[in-house]
Amino acid sequence: MNTAAPVQAEMSKETLRDLVNKFPRCGIAHLPTPLEKMANLSQRLGVKLFIKRDDQTGLAFGGNKARKLDFIIADVLAKKCDSIITWAGVQSNWCRQTAAAAGRVGVKPILILYQRPNLPAECDGNLFINHLFDAEMKIVEVEKDRNFMELAEVSDDVEEAAENERRKGNNPYLAPIGGSLTEGSMTAPLGAVSYVGAFLEIFDQCRQQKIKPDYVVLATGSASTQAGLQAGAELLSPNTEIVGISVSGDRSSVSKSVEIIAEQTFAALAAADNRKPDVVVFDEYNGEGYGILNDATVRALRLVARAEGILLDPVYTGKAMAGLLDLIDKGYFEKGSNVVFLHSGGTPALFPYREQIIDYLKK
Ligand SMILES: *Cc1c(COP(=O)(O)O)cnc(C)c1O
Repeated sequence: MNTAAPVQAEMSKETLRDLVNKFPRCGIAHLPTPLEKMANLSQRLGVKLFIKRDDQTGLAFGGNKARKLDFIIADVLAKKCDSIITWAGVQSNWCRQTAAAAGRVGVKPILILYQRPNLPAECDGNLFINHLFDAEMKIVEVEKDRNFMELAEVSDDVEEAAENERRKGNNPYLAPIGGSLTEGSMTAPLGAVSYVGAFLEIFDQCRQQKIKPDYVVLATGSASTQAGLQAGAELLSPNTEIVGISVSGDRSSVSKSVEIIAEQTFAALAAADNRKPDVVVFDEYNGEGYGILNDATVRALRLVARAEGILLDPVYTGKAMAGLLDLIDKGYFEKGSNVVFLHSGGTPALFPYREQIIDYLKK
């Protein structure tokens, strides 16, 4: 008798697409986003580099949260909620895009924004844009640099905002930070499901361009982007390695979150039993912590801007690119392999960091 674990067959992309399409969406994202070759950088670095332009998802300067909100806003409407309460840092891309999406469907955005010490606090970048969307905002100072996982749960401030709404006879939707963990009103891992959809796009586009995606490299914060890509890759293209560069937590806590969300995603898609995702996370490119700039990040921003004319952001994609460059340097990627970098957006945060960035550029 063969006692080895059964090898699970790859799923067809049609089957996987049908499973993803069972979840309603509201159509706020511009999809598919382009997959472009980074020809100049590839030549310079000796690895075939591609960039998946999820900074071009179209909603209020774009970014990965538009994909997630495509599903989450559909859930808000299905649950007949009239406001959406969410929380994150003051310069959160998630909050900016949530406020934009909420207004589109006539739902009131309420944001609980955590102000961390040592991070830009002025009314600029995402925080400024939230005003244009008429988001109700409460800024809460936090003492230390709390990472995503520590902020994952519904806090007292969020509960209080929800109670306020309920007292007025309203029906608030509590959306978890980053649209990631199944917390608050979100009972299915909708953020990750949207990134299974993104993996399907990458898979299709690679086929059209006659390449195999050997690696997908991305910035990881609240973990559902990586979890969705991971689930998609395991089901459709097990030889594709998903490489997360943490911008906040340490390797073990981030990997754990990716694993939990990926498992929830398999279950939500009814796609597989007992799959244990094989998660890769690097935490050595996080520097001094979430949102804290460093030299390697600015060098990565500058390199991609000058070689490809593409703007990365200082909090997520700049750090992930710094990680990618270092991993290329160390020979992590097999020779001749194709590496897809996910541009997950975040560019409005360039502005509150402008003086710091200029200082680094002068060094
Ligand atoms: C939120 C965000 C990420 C991280 O996505 P998670 O799903 O939270 O891990 C990466 N890049 C940008 C620009 C983001 O705003």
